[in-house]
Amino acid sequence: MASQQRQGQAAAAAPTAPAAPTAAPPPQQPWTPSSWRSRPIKQAPAYPDQEKLSKAVNDLSRLPPLVHPNEILALKAHLRDVAHGKAFLLQGGDCAELFDYCEQGAIESKIKLLLQMSVVLIWGTNKPVVRIDRMAGQYAKPRSSPTEIVQGKEIPSFRGDILNGYHVDERDIDPDRLLKAYHFSAATLNYVRTAIASGIADLHRPLDWGLGHVKDPVLKEKYSAIANSIQQTLRFLQVINARPGELETVELFTSHEGLLLEYEQPMTRLLEKLPPAPAPPPSSRTPSPQPPLADGAGAAAKQEYYDTSAHFIWIGDRTRQLDHAHVEFFRGIANPIGIKVGPSTPTTDLLDLLRTLNPTREPGKITLITRYGANKVSKLLPQHFRAVEDSEYRRCVAWQCDPMHGNTLSTPSGIKTRRFNDIYRELQESLRIHKDQGSYLGGVHLELTGDAVTECLGGSEGLDEDDLSTNYTSFCDPRLNEKQALELAFLVADPFSQ
Ligand code: PEP
Ligand code: MN
Repeated sequence: MASQQRQGQAAAAAPTAPAAPTAAPPPQQPWTPSSWRSRPIKQAPAYPDQEKLSKAVNDLSRLPPLVHPNEILALKAHLRDVAHGKAFLLQGGDCAELFDYCEQGAIESKIKLLLQMSVVLIWGTNKPVVRIDRMAGQYAKPRSSPTEIVQGKEIPSFRGDILNGYHVDERDIDPDRLLKAYHFSAATLNYVRTAIASGIADLHRPLDWGLGHVKDPVLKEKYSAIANSIQQTLRFLQVINARPGELETVELFTSHEGLLLEYEQPMTRLLEKLPPAPAPPPSSRTPSPQPPLADGAGAAAKQEYYDTSAHFIWIGDRTRQLDHAHVEFFRGIANPIGIKVGPSTPTTDLLDLLRTLNPTREPGKITLITRYGANKVSKLLPQHFRAVEDSEYRRCVAWQCDPMHGNTLSTPSGIKTRRFNDIYRELQESLRIHKDQGSYLGGVHLELTGDAVTECLGGSEGLDEDDLSTNYTSFCDPRLNEKQALELAFLVADPFSQ
């Protein structure tokens, strides 16, 4: 299976030379959840059965939201803190989530890994960490080519479980998968919520640091010292019962690439934030004064369009053309959003995108997810950073480093992989550049799994090309395994803590 899958993968997104700016934003027509339909679109699936598609979209529009505006706005407030340098953002999960991953063990291992990485990052950065998973909806994948050769036969590329199946017999696009994606997202999210509410993230339990694999004695000592220091701090907090409640549970938000607009549109609803519940009266015999209305006496709460498929969605590197459908859709939703920024993003486009997607300059509304590649970051990040910081968007965006997507390569035998060292190098460079510019890196965006996969080379286990076949299970991009991901958190946290 693994070798068939690797041969069959559509080409990785290769970093390209800076492109000419795309067309200037067209004059803005009134936005509606479906106004994207009048724009040209990239990566659009050719649905074979329009009637079945309309029915699926209609059914989706009647299903309840997966997330609530209050949660979306809470995340936006946290991301404002990230933009202002008061919090750090950790986002991670699979490249392509499969319906099969909707299973207790896979969900738990990912939650635990993100939690553990976030504890290390809190320790290192001395800042609260905002956690977002790429889960409960990361089912649609952009592809470089609509077809691929598998076992000598040209077949449609796998485009993610929301459109077609990985198995060679399931490559036809099936609109019913839109509804399946909703139900698998709901089941995944339900288990994330219940696992967290039931104490999976309770830091009173000792964390398993599993450092046995670290071969280099210097690194091992360093990581053990960090783990011990974290464990001691947690014990101390428990002894003095500091901020009771906050060690028992965490906030975890969901995200995915907002690629498939036939799914995002019906999940987009005109809603309003619920005001905070009034405090209970001090005693039943003493009538309490009327609590003030949240939005001013008598004022109606503000209704906005929320994409209720996830708290955070992002525009991918291949669909961020200014005059195209994805930018049009994203400009109307109140969610915090991400934009992938890479070697093919002209600086002028970056500012036009900010002006189109965040005309009111809301801090935290936009996270720029930079993914240049270890060899290009030092040339490109300073240019992009200066353009934004020297504009009216200064200190308005969160800068997040995705050190995965500019560092994908193929081994001589055709296996898609990434080197741990390249990933770390891009991260280190991004940290340094932000510091040199008098700024700070706001967060990291990683492809990872809580399982012991062998998809990326290197790390303390020293995985080499021969090891890749041991447990290569990704159906899209190679992910960091749980040891490599935790090690990356140690390495990122360490310089902060000096
Ligand atoms: C991804 O995040 O899986 C992805 C396809 O990234 P990008 O759009 O940056 O290539
Ligand atoms: Mn990917």
